[in-house]
Parts: sequence; C-alpha cells; structure tokens
Amino acid sequence: MEILYKSTRGGEEGVTASQAILKGLAKDGGLFVPDHIPALDVPMETLARMTYQEVAYEVMSRFFTDFTEEELKNCIAKAYDEKFDTEEIAPLTKAEGIYFLELFHGATIAFKDMALSILPHLLTTAAGKNHVKNEIVILTATSGDTGKAAMAGFADVPGTKIIVFYPKDGVSPVQEKQMVTQKGGNTYVVAIRGNFDDAQTGVKNIFNDKTFAEEMARAGFQFSSANSINIGRLIPQVVYYVYAYASLVRNSEIKNGDVVNVTVPTGNFGNILAAFYAKQMGLPIGKLICASNENKVLVDFFRTGVYDRNRPFILTSSPSMDILISSNLERLIYRISGQSAARTKECMDGLQKNGRYEIDDEMREQLNDFYGDYASEEETAAEIASMYKDTGYVLDTHTAVAVSVYEKYRKESGDTTPVILASTASPYKFTRSVLHAIDADAYDGLGDFEQMDVLSEISNTKIPRAIEEIRTAPVRHNTVCDADQMGQTVKKILGI
Ligand SMILES: *Cc1c(COP(=O)(O)O)cnc(C)c1O
Repeated sequence: MEILYKSTRGGEEGVTASQAILKGLAKDGGLFVPDHIPALDVPMETLARMTYQEVAYEVMSRFFTDFTEEELKNCIAKAYDEKFDTEEIAPLTKAEGIYFLELFHGATIAFKDMALSILPHLLTTAAGKNHVKNEIVILTATSGDTGKAAMAGFADVPGTKIIVFYPKDGVSPVQEKQMVTQKGGNTYVVAIRGNFDDAQTGVKNIFNDKTFAEEMARAGFQFSSANSINIGRLIPQVVYYVYAYASLVRNSEIKNGDVVNVTVPTGNFGNILAAFYAKQMGLPIGKLICASNENKVLVDFFRTGVYDRNRPFILTSSPSMDILISSNLERLIYRISGQSAARTKECMDGLQKNGRYEIDDEMREQLNDFYGDYASEEETAAEIASMYKDTGYVLDTHTAVAVSVYEKYRKESGDTTPVILASTASPYKFTRSVLHAIDADAYDGLGDFEQMDVLSEISNTKIPRAIEEIRTAPVRHNTVCDADQMGQTVKKILGI
C-alpha cells in the first residue's frame, strides 16, 4: 500500500516519500511523517537469514513506496559498502549481559554515518524521479562531527556539492584535521571567524534569501539540507533495530517473539524515535529507555509532561547529546496527540515563543513505553572505568551515559528483559575523555595520537581507518572567511 507523508503541523499532505526527502522540512515548519506506520510483514526466520543490505531493503521499501525496487537497492548498495569496516555493518557485541549494537563502523566512526551514507543517494534518486535538473548543493554549519559525516556521505556523489562551515577556533584539533583533509571533488570546507552560532545563522540566512535562490537556479543549482529531521535520515535508522533483533534470533540468543528492551543515548531524539517506529512496525520491543546527559530536558519531560528548554546549556564529555531542543520529539508529540496537527502546532508554537510546552494526561499515558533518566559526568566516567576493568570493553562517553542510565532502570524496575543498547560512537572518537576516565594520571599528559596508540593497546583493537588516515592525509581545504562573507564564499565556490 502506498504511504504518503504529511506535515506534523497540518500544512502539507499527500506528499510522496521522494518529495518529502527532497523538501526536508515541510513548508509550515513541520516535520514530515508517514500517514501510517507499515507492518513488518516479513517472517522473522526470513529476516534472520538476511544480510544488513537485504534487511535494509525490506524495511525501507515499506516506507519509501514510490521508489522502485531497483532504485532502492541501488541506494542501499552504494551506502553500505566498504566504507564500513565490517561486512555486518552494525554488529552486536555482548558485555556484562548487554547487547551493544555498534553503530560506529562507518567512515567517521559514529552513528550519523548510518543515515548520512545513504541520504545522498536517496536525495539524488528523489531528484531524478521528480525531474529536478539542478545540481543539489548541501550547506551545513557544524560544531565538528555532523559536517564531517555529511561530507563523507556526499563525497563524489554525482549531482551534488557539499559546503561545510565550521568555527575556526571552535572545534577540536582532531575534528579540524578530519575536515580539512576531506577527499572528494565536490566537497568544500570553510573555516569562519566566529562561533558555531554565527556559522549556523549564516547558513540560515543564505537558505532564506530568495534572491540568492533565484541566482542559484539560473546557474543550475538548488540548496538542500542534510539535517537530521529529514525523513530520509530517520527511516534508514529503523533498519538496524530490525537487523539487531534478527541477529539475536539467528544466534539463538533469544527466541523469535521474545521481547527486548532498547536503550539509546539521546540528543535530537532521532535514534530512539527510529526504535519507536520499529516497535510500531511490530518488532517485539518492550521499554524504550531514553538516556540523557546533564542536559536532561527529556528526562524532565518524561517525568512531568513539561518540555522546558529554559535552563543553562551544559558542556559535557558527550557533546553530541548537548542539546536543549530535541527536534525529532515533534514526531512523537504528533503521534501521542492522536495525530492532531493542531495540538502539535500549539506545542511547537509554545516552544518557539516561551521555550516550553506541556502535554495533557491523555498524551502522557501513551508515553508508558518510554523511560527517561540521565547520567552525571562522574557517573559517565565511572561507567567507562568499571566496564573496562570488568570486561576489557571500552565504551565511548555517549554509550557510557546510556549504560549508566540502563543500570539505573534495571535496579529501579527489576526488569531483566534482554537489552539492545545503541552504541553511538567509537571510543577512538572521544579518546581523551575515555582515557581520562580509565586512568587520568597515566594518560592525560599524552598527545592526541599517542593516546590513540594507548587506546589500541589497552582495548586490544585496531586503530580505525578513519583515524589512521588523518595522521598522514594532506590538507586539502584552507579557505577562511568572516561570518558575514559566507554568501559570497558560496558564490565563489559555485562560480556564480
Ligand atoms: C548524534 C549523536 C547522538 C544523539 O542521537 P540523536 O538521534 O540526535 O538522539 C548520540 N551519540 C552520538 C555519538 C551522536 O553523534
């Protein structure tokens, strides 16, 4: 059955999957949601015999119904290939009774690779299907990680260019090195004199500039964004929950039909929403355990029904979860309001105007599947140290937040249901914090690359290619500009 997409705020409906992917955000500022969640109508025994790519096709074809089989299989084949350092793409590792779903085997050793390696192909395919002749130009402002993951995904994808802006003095030396060494004839990296907010505001201004868009169109270009609210990033994330469950059945860790819980270190709420969608499709998921760091807006929301971003922004050792507005939560609000666009819009207007909104009791009741808690910086570090000491397995800071919250949940509830825990970054991505947690006295004084050698030794793992490469890779990008010159810089890059 065909699935069409509509805005959570009611301003658009009857939009095909490919159009929703092309548009990214709906005209009214809402997020695109499917008009219903399709059933996972493939027997688990069949899924259990499939490769990651085959499972990806089964899941994604249920949502992206206007893509042909050939188109979708093509996108999947180009995305999940040797860019990943394991054929399994998303392998499971068991430690202390937890099934760690390792989502960090892609090009930038973090979970955003799972979606950003396929989005460019979905986007160019969608452009073709909708007779868009313009070349697609992706503009992104980054505080370090997302920009790199987006570039890795878009590098050398025909019909696209990607321009990434980062704050010159606002990213770590390793992050900067990762960006300025980026390969690909269609990738452009620009450092700006300013902070991340300046970079983001600059990108927004360019996006909202109608004259700019007209000039672009005359030259055969159009802008698009690789933002995490694009439905083309969300649906590919449903795949690995299905694949993980099927893997557990295949390996006789569970029986088909057994319930599993899922724990996710959460920021923008995309990853855990994908697990919720998997549950709605019929995957036997029990609790969805939502783990936050000290920026615990979501914890308070699950406990009180009030979402309130009016609080200090705390910098933690799990920076990808330092977020006060979890954009993808809007899709959950829409669902628990009985798909009421009016109610959703009311909440989002409240968030925009007053930085807060409150849901009613009827909506709260539908959050029973969710459990939210947070881990402090001390708890996070203690978790890294104890897991290493007890099992030799080294957690990154984000994953450690999730383990700490999961342990709290299990103690509180006594629930011993098997748990799949989304492991969202390789410890090599946050080596300094990880080694500091394990033995600060011994390791704090070492340089970045010395630390990586130490991590390799103590965890008995190979240094990932992503890290190995930046040691020797030549610098390819050295453009620097003022924040108010971003538009001109884009024009210069595009030759218009
Ligand atoms: C982006 C990110 C998260 C948060 O995921 P959301 O989908 O935004 O909730 C967690 N961990 C890491 C390492 C990330 O990069």
